Parts: sequence; structure tokens; C-alpha cells
Amino acid sequence: MAPHQTPPPLSGKRRRIAMMTSGGDSPGMNGATRAVIRTALERGCEAYCVYEGYEGLVQGGNFIRKMEWSDVRGWLSEGGTLIGTARCMAFYERPGRLKAARNMVLNGIDALVICGGDGSLTGADKFRSEWPSLLKELVETKQLTAEQVEPFKHLNIVGLVGSIDNDMSGTDATIGCFSALGRICEMVDYIEATASSHSRAFVIEVMGRHCGWLALMAGVATGADFIFIPEKPRADRWREEMCTIVARHRQLGKRKTIVIVAEGAHDQQGNKITPEQIKNLLADKQGLALDTRITTLGHVQRGGSACAYDRYLATLQGVEAVNAVLDATPTTPTPFIAINENKITRKPLVQAVEDTKEVAKAIEARDFDRAMGLRDTEFSDFYNSYMTTTTTDIDDSKKVALEKRMRIAIIHVGAPAGGVNAATRAAVAYCLTRGHTPIAIHNGFAGFARHHDDEPQGSVRPFDWLEVDGWASKGGSEIGMNREIPSESGMDLIADLFKLYKFDGLFIIGGFEAFHALSQLRRAREQYPSFRIPMTLLPATISNNVPGTEYSIGSDTCLNELVRYCDTIKQSASASRRRVFVIETQGGRSGYIATLAGLSVGAVAVYTPEEGISISMLAADIEHLKSVFAHDSGQSRAGRLILINEKASKVYNAKLIADMIREEARDRFESRDSIPGHVQQGGVPSPMDRTRAVRLAIKCIEHLESLGQASEEEISNNLMSATVIGIRGAKVVFSPMKEVEENETDWPNRRPKNEFWTPLKAVVDTLSGRPNVPRPE
Ligand code: ATP
Repeated sequence: MAPHQTPPPLSGKRRRIAMMTSGGDSPGMNGATRAVIRTALERGCEAYCVYEGYEGLVQGGNFIRKMEWSDVRGWLSEGGTLIGTARCMAFYERPGRLKAARNMVLNGIDALVICGGDGSLTGADKFRSEWPSLLKELVETKQLTAEQVEPFKHLNIVGLVGSIDNDMSGTDATIGCFSALGRICEMVDYIEATASSHSRAFVIEVMGRHCGWLALMAGVATGADFIFIPEKPRADRWREEMCTIVARHRQLGKRKTIVIVAEGAHDQQGNKITPEQIKNLLADKQGLALDTRITTLGHVQRGGSACAYDRYLATLQGVEAVNAVLDATPTTPTPFIAINENKITRKPLVQAVEDTKEVAKAIEARDFDRAMGLRDTEFSDFYNSYMTTTTTDIDDSKKVALEKRMRIAIIHVGAPAGGVNAATRAAVAYCLTRGHTPIAIHNGFAGFARHHDDEPQGSVRPFDWLEVDGWASKGGSEIGMNREIPSESGMDLIADLFKLYKFDGLFIIGGFEAFHALSQLRRAREQYPSFRIPMTLLPATISNNVPGTEYSIGSDTCLNELVRYCDTIKQSASASRRRVFVIETQGGRSGYIATLAGLSVGAVAVYTPEEGISISMLAADIEHLKSVFAHDSGQSRAGRLILINEKASKVYNAKLIADMIREEARDRFESRDSIPGHVQQGGVPSPMDRTRAVRLAIKCIEHLESLGQASEEEISNNLMSATVIGIRGAKVVFSPMKEVEENETDWPNRRPKNEFWTPLKAVVDTLSGRPNVPRPE
């Protein structure tokens, strides 16, 4: 043992921060590592990686390596974890942790960021609580001297939750869970095609021993016929229940049956429910006699590159983890970094770990209400959403009294966005479950205005469930979407039509035009009594520029398409290596898509309409690129990306900027422009857009329903009778249109006045090493 080479601690608040991944790998872990390393370096700290999880910490030596800026280049798009992970038996025992502590001190490391599941974070917490006694023992056993350990009396640990199961209490999402869900939904979508062709049933087993999040969300996203999750086992008569629902769906004309089962599924007595049992039941000749197959998805669920959400979640949480280290005092309880709805927060690690373990205990003790209660509200919301959208018209007890039943019009306004159909399907299912009549207005207000002319059956007609049931995963807009707003169609005519069709409520799905349309209808209430009905808007646009929400459905699908596009294009440069791509993104006058995509792909610069582009800014960025290529050691073989929003400048566009770069580069590197265009609207909507669409759409109809009995006068006087639903910070809220229109809307620029994501732009710049470029005045 050579205990004398401990480096002294760094001066001031600077720290030596080590990053480690542990437990099962999950997509996005590399993004977290990149963010931690680069943020640490940017804040003047030294950065280290511990390879192979706790095993590396116990072994020390070459498992603990100092990291530099360029070491993590290109890591955002890589799947798994490049610093390795392992299950380490030694760390469960104190002697293992003693070795780990010694290695930490020998390397002068005084802060550890650990990305892993609840096991890894339990280990981390134990390590920190034992830290003083471990140091004491190291000195007593003469493995280290008192002088050596003195500067390291306080260890700070920060947890990042990396797990595909999404099984950690206190956070809505773990790094990797949406990528895994994406993989599952992709597989189910494939299977559905063959199931439909052969009129087959498929039993699909997904991961989740104690946590049914993947199974539940896959059920919501794909509209599966039946799901089994550990937290909420079906009633003892689950066999009859499943067969009744499947039989009913078949009677309605469905040609495919999909049952999703979490690997930890069991009945209320704790008896395991296996895919084989389910298959035998569906295939039973005396019963449904369905041609049934089993598909176990297994490790494909872990695999592949992370989706956009996991990349920027990992990035933002990695940045926050370093901030938490630097803010920590000796007495700060160990935090982990969570996300609730749209807000990144620090929470006490011990509590979350305890709550997580409680779920498993509650399941074991068959206290399922408690198990569900320990999951966040979102989980039960999704469970209720799932139940609402699959048991349509089977259970009459959920229907409201006849006099309370409403005729609810559903209209799509704007341009297609992923999740619009899923939202519509959920709204229709909810209406049917409650006994309301959901009515489709085809092709937006333009179609409405021509209500008898262009559609063979008219553009206004009740939804047919069999038709709608297949929409869970469909892109585009099945009832047609149009940008026209009511004033363009003719307010008198639209008001007459509202009266003619006797609508009791209006559900609008769409982007900024939809917001504008609702604003017009609300204002016109004074003149037209037929508009004095409850109305609500579900924001859906790839641009994510609707005031009143931080998230519009469709924006996640768009980001995923852009990330895929950028990865492909970046990779295409691997032969030549020295190439910059200038990629034009959509997004209207909002730089959201460009910025979040920039965060997810590690763009060297992002140009947004909010900030604009100036010649000095371009000059500085070109100088930066010259220096990047001059210092490029060549170990990374992918190109560099610049993202520019389509409306960032009236003069500088992707082509012009690419030309300027090429001219200035003088053959030292190349540049190209590229415009993905409508690819950004996406083919198949992402699971996040689909599932959120379902949850929010159901809330919207519930909201309309809550105002169903109000008089015209009450509606006119109630601000909540015209609302926009939104995710704001950590909450889902309905905001009165009047207030949002008047206080929060930048009408000329068609975007919210204060865009929540503005600070994220600085994160893109920091993590790509962009210098402090001059900003336009
Ligand atoms: P996953 O969600 O993929 O299961 P996890 O982090 O929960 O991830 P585990 O295998 O439970 O995975 O834990 C990973 C490692 O963390 C273990 O191999 C062990 O080294 C350490 N660890 C887990 N639990 C403890 C504990 N109670 N005490 C000390 N170390 C632990």
C-alpha cells in the first residue's frame, strides 16, 4: 500500500467530482456522464469517472480516471453506459466500502455523482452515512494517515436515477424509462400489424418486477386490450374479466388482441400470472379460441440510443447534480435529482429510497391500495386513463344521469402533431363511458363551415368507436386538421352551426391557431349565445408555442424525429469527419424545438428567433469552429451540428450560414446545410405524446363535464368556462383563456411571453463549449 500520494483538495469551492453508473444500464446514462463531466470542468472542478460501478470504486487503480472535456464527445447518442456498470457484491459489505473509501481519498475525490437504480442509491446513502467511521477505521488500521483524511471529512453524494423501470418514488421519470417505453411501443406497433392481419392475439411480456410503469404506459400508448401490473392486481376473477373485455372488443369488430403483462404480475393472492396462463386462456377452444402467441421483449427494452427526452433529462439532471454538489454544506442531506411534470428538483434521497422499498413491501403484503398510493398521482391518473379507454360501454354504472349527458364537439385546428389522434380517441372513450355523445367536426373550422358540401356524410357526425379505437398510435389527424380560425370561416355561420348541432361543450385540439380560435369564440360569446358553452383547448403542436403550457403534445415526437435526423447526419460525416452541418428546424417563432434538439444532440450553436442572429455572433461562432477543428485530435469521427430555427433571421438562413462557414474554413473543414422539413411532424407519435395526450384529453372532458349544468349566464361569468390545459412546472392546470390571452401571450410573435425554456439555451452553449459570443442588440 502506498498511502502517500493523496492530492490536496482543490482551493475554494472547487471540488474533485467523480461520476459513476451502477446497476442495470439505461439509455441516457451517457448523457448524464457527459453533462456531469463538462459542468464540473466548466465550474472549475476536476472531473473523474469511476468505471464499472462500485466494483471500480472498490478496486481503484485504473478504474478511477480523470476526465477531460473531449473525453465525452459524442456520448449523447450512444446507448448503454460507456463507463461500464456492474453488480458488486463487495460493496454490500463494510470491508468493500472501506476499500472504496480509501480509493476515494487516495484520488482526492470529495464528491460522487451516482446514476443508478434504487439499489445503487441505497448503497450510496449507506456509504455516505458510514463515511466518518470508514475514515476513522482507515486511520486506525494505518491504511491512511490522519493528515491524509483530514481534508476529506465531508463526502457529498448526489443521486441520479437511471433505470428503465421508472420504479423510483418521488420522480415522475427515471433516466432511460421513456427510451425503454419507446422500444416497447415500437415492438407492439409491429406486432399489431401482424396480429391484425391474422386476427391473432398476442401476449407481450415487458420488464418490471415490482413496478408496472412500463406495462401500464405501454397499455395506454398502444390501446392494449388488457394489462397486468404488480401494483394493481386484477380481481380474483381476472380470467372472466379479461375474457369478457376481449370478447367485447372482438364483437365490436377488432381483429387483433394485445395483452401486456409486466414480468412481476400476480393475482391478488400473490400467485404469479404468467404469459403462458394468459395464452392458454385466450386460446381455450371452449372459450375465445383465439390464435394466440407470446412475445417476451427481454433485453431489447434496454438497448439502443436514448430518445430525446432521456437525453435532455439526463443532461439537465447532470447539470443539476453538479450544482447540488457545489451548493452542499457538510450537513446537507444527500439529495437525488428528480423531475415532476416539467420541473427538475432536488429531493432527499433517503426518503425516496424508503418509499420505493415500501412499494415492494406493500405488494408482498398484498396491500395493493398502499402500493398504488405510494406511486405518484400521475401513476394512478394513468391507470384510470387506461381503464377508461379500454372498458368503454361495458360498465353502465359509470354513465351520468340522462339529463346530464352532453353533446361534445371535438375539432382539430392547426397542423398535425403526434398524439392528436390519441387525444381524440381518449376523449371519445371517456365520453362514451360517461354516456355523452362525442361529435367530430371534420377538417377544422373550414370543414365545419362547409358542413354539408365536401364530406359525403357531412363534416359533423358522431364518432364511431370501432373506427376510433385504432387511433392510439396513429400520426396525423384522422378527422382532418385545418389552420382556418372562426373569423375566417364567418362568425355568424359558425355561431349558427353551434346552435344547429346543439353542442353542449367544445374540445379543441391544436396549436397556436387553435388558441387563437378559442380566443375568438370566447370573445364572441357576448354577441352569440350559442358560444356560451364550456370550451377547452388541449395544446398540440410541434412548435410548443401555445401560451398556458410548457408542453404541447406533438413536440416530443418532433424532437425525436429531429434527434434521429441529426444523429444520422452526424454519423454520415464519419468518413470525412471535418464537417459542420447547419440544420434548419421548424418551430414558428419559437426556438423551443431548436434548443431542446440542440440539448439532445450536443449542437455547437443554436440560433433562435428570440435571440436572433448578428454578424458578430456568426463571426465568433465561425472562429470557435476553426479552433475546434484545429484542436480536434480526430478520435471522434462524427461531424458537428448547428441548429437554426426557420425564423431565427430574415437574412441568415441555413444555406447562407453553411456557405459562410465553408468560405471561412478555407478547406480546413467543410460545411453543408440540411432541412428536415415535414419529417419533423413525425410518422408514429412518441409514447410520451400518446400517453400525455390520453391523460390530458380525459382531464379536458372531465372539466367540460364539470361545467355541463351551468346556465348561459353562469358560463359567461365563469372564467374557467374557456380554458387551456397545460403542464406548468410540477403541475397540470387549467388556465382561464382570458388571463392567458391578456397577460401571457406575445401575439405578434405567436408564442408565450415568458418561455420557460429560455435558460436552457445557456446549458446548450455551456455543454458544447461555445464561447461567450456577442448577442444581437
Ligand atoms: P436496477 O434498477 O437496474 O436493478 P439497481 O441500482 O437497483 O439498478 P442493484 O443491483 O440493486 O441495481 O444495485 C447495484 C449495486 O449497488 C449492487 O451491485 C451493489 O454493489 C450496490 N448496492 C445495492 N444495494 C446496496 C446496499 N443495500 N448496500 C450497499 N450496496 C448496495
